[in-house]
Amino acid sequence: MTMAVANEVILLMRQRGGASYFGEPVSQLEHALQAAWLASLAGASRQLVLAALLHDVGHLLHNLPESIASEGVDTAHEIAGYDWILRRFGPIVAEPARYHVAAKRYLCAVEPEYRATLSPASLESLQLQGGPMDEGQIRAFEALPCYREAVMVRRWDDEAKVPGLVVPGIEEYREIIESECLRLMN
Ligand code: FE
Repeated sequence: MTMAVANEVILLMRQRGGASYFGEPVSQLEHALQAAWLASLAGASRQLVLAALLHDVGHLLHNLPESIASEGVDTAHEIAGYDWILRRFGPIVAEPARYHVAAKRYLCAVEPEYRATLSPASLESLQLQGGPMDEGQIRAFEALPCYREAVMVRRWDDEAKVPGLVVPGIEEYREIIESECLRLMN
C-alpha cells in the first residue's frame, strides 16, 4: 500500500511534471524538487518537506494549458491538490499545501516588501486569487492552526524557480512518502 502510493506519486511527478511551471523558467518537477530541497535545508519536519514537494500537485491532476492564468482562469489548484494529499498523507501534510495560495494573499497584505519579490506570473495569478487579504481575512488566516507552515511553504514556493539548479531527485523522497503514508494508516 505505502509502496503503491510512493510509486503513484513518483510516476505522477515524472510523467506530468515535465510541463513548464506556468510562466516560470522551471518545470513543475524542478519546482517541486527545489521547494522540497529548500524545506530540507531549512530543517523543516518530514511532513513539511512533503508538503513543499506536493504543494502544487493539483496542477498535475488536470489537463489545462499552462497559459491558463493569462486567460483569466483561476484553476484553484490548491483545492484539488488538498483533497489528493489529504487522502494519502493526512491533514498535517495537506493543510499547508491547501493554504499556500492564501499565504501569498496574506503576505502581500502584511509585508509591503513581499509583493516586489513575486514573479510576473505570480503577480498575475494574485489578482485572480482575490488580491491581498483585507483585515478580516488576515485575522481568519492567522487563526488557522497551520498558518505558519503555509507561509513557510509559500516562501519556498516563491524561491523554487531557479533555472538549472541541481537538487536531489524525486527518488530521494521515496522513504519520506512511504513513511508518511504509513503514519496515516496507523
Ligand atoms: Fe508553487
